[in-house]
Amino acid sequence: MSLPVRVRFAPSPTGFLHVGGARTALFNWLYARHTGGKFILRIEDTDKARNTVEAVQVIYDGLKWLGLDWDEGPGVGGDCGPYFQSERDAVYQKYLDKLLAAGAVYEDEKKAVRFKGPRKLIVMEDLVCGRVEVDRSKPINPLGDMEPDMTIRRPDGSWIFHFVNVVDDIEMGITHVIRGEDHLSNTPKHIEIYQALGVTPPQFAHIPLILNRSGGKMSKRDQGASVQQYIDEGYAPESVANYLCLLGWSPKDNREKLPMEEVVSLFELDKINRRNAAFDTDKCFWLNGQYIHEMTLERFRALCMPVMERAGLPIGGFSNDYLDHVLASVKEKIKLLKDVPAWTAYFFTDDFAFDEEAVNKTLRAGGAAARLTQLASHLETLPAESWEPVALESAFKALSAEAGVKTALFIHPARVAASGRSVGPSLYHMLAILGRDKVLARLRAAAAK
Ligand code: GLU
Repeated sequence: MSLPVRVRFAPSPTGFLHVGGARTALFNWLYARHTGGKFILRIEDTDKARNTVEAVQVIYDGLKWLGLDWDEGPGVGGDCGPYFQSERDAVYQKYLDKLLAAGAVYEDEKKAVRFKGPRKLIVMEDLVCGRVEVDRSKPINPLGDMEPDMTIRRPDGSWIFHFVNVVDDIEMGITHVIRGEDHLSNTPKHIEIYQALGVTPPQFAHIPLILNRSGGKMSKRDQGASVQQYIDEGYAPESVANYLCLLGWSPKDNREKLPMEEVVSLFELDKINRRNAAFDTDKCFWLNGQYIHEMTLERFRALCMPVMERAGLPIGGFSNDYLDHVLASVKEKIKLLKDVPAWTAYFFTDDFAFDEEAVNKTLRAGGAAARLTQLASHLETLPAESWEPVALESAFKALSAEAGVKTALFIHPARVAASGRSVGPSLYHMLAILGRDKVLARLRAAAAK
């Protein structure tokens, strides 16, 4: 019988959560949820200089935003803590003592502790990459140089990644190490440490790299590389999480929009693609639009409210019903949540911005003022209870027939007068939501200006 799955995400706090790291976290989380195992968060903060509270917070915020909850780790606790490497010195010392007792390490002339490389053939059965053989008994160059013995503790007492990473995976009972392919070349070294400690290594699954537009490894500088960017630009977290699933994994039926519960039920490590994954910002953007269009109004409201509040819109003074009508009117048009305030401000304040170009084109056009006055007088004849889209449309049509002009000559100035913009929800819906008093006042104010 196999052990219950325990996987971990082990980021080093750099002040930045890269989409590659987020994807690694996601695949670990998916595997834990798929198998009913545990997902552990461990902070690899041995580099004291880069180790700040803010840098760790960025990781928590990004994971929480993506919906990747951890079962053990900072803020949650667990039996294998502390979950910060900077607090695990005693554990590492204990394992160093074991290696000393086994004669597997020595101190060099500079007082660094080095691991005596066994220099043997290492064979790994990677769950994604397949069988990988690295012959460590061979020289690393034509001059016949052998790889130097790896340092595991520096003269200043600080620990080297390879050692503490292995010790923690042992101590935390990790069964599967799922990490980026950039770590594949480290794994033989890690296996040597496991062997020296007499411990069976976990299973490894090295997931393909993410490539940028020009085919290079996606770096910090590439567009779309930081999870924070998606938060700031108003992506829906479920669309970004969905997009990350597709970077190296697919459901085999070409579907792209998949609810996370379904990915959880389908996710298997041996279905991870071996080929590198190309990052496509356009596809992520497209997927976000799909999610926004198809999500429930309730979900859309939950995502929009904080964005609107941050933009200073006084939404608190309006009923939920009004808010829902407003949001329903723009939901099909919005691609990014950050656009919601500009698309809806005029529903909540009379002090909204006028788009200069729209004003010049429609309100300053010859005859526009007279038509707005005419329109206001005509709409005033509509009783308040008939102030709804169908009746408004008929009123616009009747007026333009009477005036002998195209309806567009009333529609465009009315839209700009009521909203300050040339694009927005369907005009009759917009006027219906705004209500009779506001609309009549705005048409007249624009005519007067
Ligand atoms: N701290 C390492 C990193 O951020 C973790 C590697 C691993 O998952 O083993 O790349």
